[in-house]
Amino acid sequence: MDDFQKIQRKASLLLAIGFGVVIASGLALWFFLNQMDMSEQMIIALTAAGMFVVIMLAAGILGQLILSPFHALWQAILHVVPESTTVPAPNMNNVHFGRHLVTQLTARVYQFASQEDGIALAEHRKSVLQAVNIVSHFPLPVLVFNKELIITNASDSAMSYLALESPQLFGQRLFDSVDLEFPSERTLQTWIEDCQKNKVTDQAYWQRVHIRLRDGKTIKQCDIAAYYNRENESGTEFIVTLFDHTDLYDQDDQSLGFVALAVHELRTPLTMLRGYIEVLEEELAGKIDKELEDYVHKLRLSSDQLADFVGNVLHVVKIEQNQLSLALTEQDWGPVLREASANMRARAEAMGMHITFRIDSKLPHVAIDPVSISLVINNLLDNAIKYSKDSKEIIVTATKNRDGMVETTVQDFGVGIPENVLPHLFEKFYRSHRSRNQIGGSGLGLFLTKAIVTAHGGHIWVNSKPGQGSSFSFTLQPYAQLSDEFKSNTEGEITRQAHGWIKNHSLYRR
Ligand code: ADP
Repeated sequence: MDDFQKIQRKASLLLAIGFGVVIASGLALWFFLNQMDMSEQMIIALTAAGMFVVIMLAAGILGQLILSPFHALWQAILHVVPESTTVPAPNMNNVHFGRHLVTQLTARVYQFASQEDGIALAEHRKSVLQAVNIVSHFPLPVLVFNKELIITNASDSAMSYLALESPQLFGQRLFDSVDLEFPSERTLQTWIEDCQKNKVTDQAYWQRVHIRLRDGKTIKQCDIAAYYNRENESGTEFIVTLFDHTDLYDQDDQSLGFVALAVHELRTPLTMLRGYIEVLEEELAGKIDKELEDYVHKLRLSSDQLADFVGNVLHVVKIEQNQLSLALTEQDWGPVLREASANMRARAEAMGMHITFRIDSKLPHVAIDPVSISLVINNLLDNAIKYSKDSKEIIVTATKNRDGMVETTVQDFGVGIPENVLPHLFEKFYRSHRSRNQIGGSGLGLFLTKAIVTAHGGHIWVNSKPGQGSSFSFTLQPYAQLSDEFKSNTEGEITRQAHGWIKNHSLYRR
């Protein structure tokens, strides 16, 4: 006889006993009431009521007993269903009826549930493998890393692009394996830090990133796209894709080299031209009519503009080749600022504009290289003039700020700069779409300006609102802060290297 038949027999027996008890108690009650002195109707009514109570009691007790195995099974099933984690497992000691059968069936339920878990795990493993497979065969260099910046996955093309074997990449910290240099201080590292502090998901894009390979000689140039997803279940917080543009950017650099060569040749005749124009202007002053005098004046302004462009290109090439060094000397900033602005002031006036100077009379002396710093002033004022549109006012302010640095601001009230453009302004060759189409320029001015200011130990930043104008500010170190360094220098000059490339992992300039 199997367990189920046993239960069936037990249940029949229990029901039979139940019926027996009900009939016996009915008879007993009937007999008992007949001994009493009461009418027949009364006896029938009381017996019926008594039997009703006994039937209800028997049904309750028998029902609970016979259904107790189902209750235990129900509890066992709910216990393993993932959505109802609050139902406890049944306690078999409380099952008095069909315990053997129930124990066997609940064991089966647990067994099925664990098989289901196993299937889910296998599915998960399969999808992870699939993801790994997709990444490894992805036809672009892709790096995947976790929140500790440990590389957890990489495509085969990443390995060949970076010329690394898998042990040099997998399980390594990103910046130990990949040497990146960025054209501005908005690096992958600063973005990662920002994401981890402030974001849940984010994306970012960089152009013209240098990757220095392990051989120390080869430099690849690429754009980088990065994706961040905080606490991603798979542990892949960051995905970075590299888009190689080495040929294209190398070509740009070579063109810059070629332009530099050509521009270098322009320098001597240009200097002579400017000299002659200056002499002409002085000699002819008052001797020719006003219109001709005006032409000569404009000739001089244009030759100055050309000279500024030549200076910019040559300086950028020097920065690129890590050959720009500054000779810092002690200078009174007010007069230097005015003198460096003279050409731009003349240009502004020729265009009906006016530059107002608000220079604090108690500024400390600054440590500057006057030739390089005049490029900074020229570029900022040149931009203020170019992007002023119909506004005629430019304000130059110089004050000592809270940190004791000398802070200079060039403010215009022109077209302003959209917010999405601001992070790119100081990158080499960067020009906003609007300026590209409407206003002449090379996209080198602010790159150069920033490189020179940072090499001076200062900072440069911009505040701008489209339609309201822009303020470019930069700081310079007071000479007193450098005096010890200066004293130890026998030639009376402090030389500093200026370079525009920011190492990703330490933010120092090489
Ligand atoms: P450009 O030769 O194009 O002026 P810069 O490096 O000097 O090159 O400037 C880069 C870009 O920054 C410009 O193309 C322009 O879009 C924007 N810009 C710079 N200065 C200003 C300004 N004062 N007002 C508005 N936009 C500016």
